[in-house]
Amino acid sequence: MQVREDLSEAMTYTSPSSGKRVGMAFLQPKSRDDLAKRRIMMKAWADHSGGMLGRTPDYLDSSIMAMAAAAPFFGTGDHDYARNILRYYEYVRENDLLLTHTLINPQANRATGPSKQADPFIAARVLSKNSEGVVVRGARMLATLPIADEILVFPSTVIRSGQDDLPYSIAFALPVSAKGLKFICRESFAEESAFDHPLASRYDEQDAVVVFDDVLVPWDRVFILEDPERANRVSEQTGAIVFMAQQATIRETAKAEFVAGLATLIAETIGADQFPHVQEKIADILLTVESMKAFLAAAEAAAKPNEWGLMTPDYVPINSARNMWPRVAPNLSVVIKQIGASGLMAIPPEGVLNSGARADVDKYYQAKLADSEDRIRLFKLAWDAAGSSFAGRQDLYERFFFGDPVRMASAYYSWYDKEPYKSRVREMLGRKGE
Ligand SMILES: Cc1cc2nc3c(=O)[nH]c(=O)nc-3n(C[C@H](O)[C@H](O)[C@H](O)COP(=O)(O)OP(=O)(O)OC[C@H]3O[C@@H](n4cnc5c(N)ncnc54)[C@H](O)[C@@H]3O)c2cc1C
Repeated sequence: MQVREDLSEAMTYTSPSSGKRVGMAFLQPKSRDDLAKRRIMMKAWADHSGGMLGRTPDYLDSSIMAMAAAAPFFGTGDHDYARNILRYYEYVRENDLLLTHTLINPQANRATGPSKQADPFIAARVLSKNSEGVVVRGARMLATLPIADEILVFPSTVIRSGQDDLPYSIAFALPVSAKGLKFICRESFAEESAFDHPLASRYDEQDAVVVFDDVLVPWDRVFILEDPERANRVSEQTGAIVFMAQQATIRETAKAEFVAGLATLIAETIGADQFPHVQEKIADILLTVESMKAFLAAAEAAAKPNEWGLMTPDYVPINSARNMWPRVAPNLSVVIKQIGASGLMAIPPEGVLNSGARADVDKYYQAKLADSEDRIRLFKLAWDAAGSSFAGRQDLYERFFFGDPVRMASAYYSWYDKEPYKSRVREMLGRKGE
């Protein structure tokens, strides 16, 4: 898409260092116009897959872009971490590299922190330091898109670290081919046939547990080292969280729009669109679409420069979208199932259409508004969006990809300024007979 003649203007911009066209996600926005350019690029990526690709490059590129603008945050102690993040951003931008990332410790015992697990090296941590860099041992999860060029290892955006977590409080980047680095992938959900599995055949991103078998991280790839306090603040204080959440909200909007289209086509195709409860269910999805769009518009309208000079969307609507999405996203596949019903199982494999059963298929699979083949194509797409292994993983992704929704909601509760609403109630309670 970046090199397509009709799209390259929207998907790329001119690099300030090399003069080459580079990905628009690296553009450090200085104006509302820049923000709009970034939004148009992100929407184009998201619409391409109907929002089914969670980790198009713009997600992590946005994070690196914001962190580079905030380079002084990383400090310049024994090693110049500020210079490291700046150079890394330029390296990724100029080489158009694809990034994966891992933020979470293995799910061994969530009742306690990484240092108190059965083995303190279950979670990836500093093993030693030498003149070349830091040696890391242990594991992290969950890296979506392990086919990337590079992996970012960063602190969670949700879980806070304390002094016990010193050796775990690290941030760095490595090529995925680094010596000792292993990706243990889940079973693939990718399927061969684009007819039978229109989404799984194209968009299975894969997810992996990442093992660091005494991996050397060169000093110039280290951004945070044994610094829980900085690790706790990095996402928010650099502005990375806002730009990542904006990308996520744009993709979520694209997905809700796609599912709204899918649900409507299913209902119309089988003549179910006249039933009020079907209309109500599709209206629920349309309300999700419009809510996400409204969050985005509000965030852009109230954008202002952050402390590092980046024109930054307002975090209140963006953080609200981030917290609302895991609550409404599971309904997308529920509605497809409620409307598609048994039709979602009337999806014979491609071979059946080329067999002696074709005449029966043509007669019995026709629908009000589609011949048998078009109807089967539509329902296969619906099943891949709502019911297949690919769809199950999509559902889980939407619930968790930005962190545990329960702890996120708790953080949202503490962060949200509720004082104006409380004082309005107090004011009414205090009125004397007025
Ligand atoms: C499909 C998919 C793709 C993902 N891709 C990535 C990726 O690319 N990069 C990445 O870094 N991460 C990724 N994640 C991981 C994501 O960040 C985590 O799922 C999320 O942070 C929640 O952590 P967890 O899965 O370890 O759940 P856990 O923390 O193990 O939670 C399990 C359950 O226990 C509860 N719980 C646990 N601890 C507490 C607590 N202290 N207080 C209250 N409740 C608690 C949770 O609410 C939840 O119900 C992905 C996840 C999925 C499902």
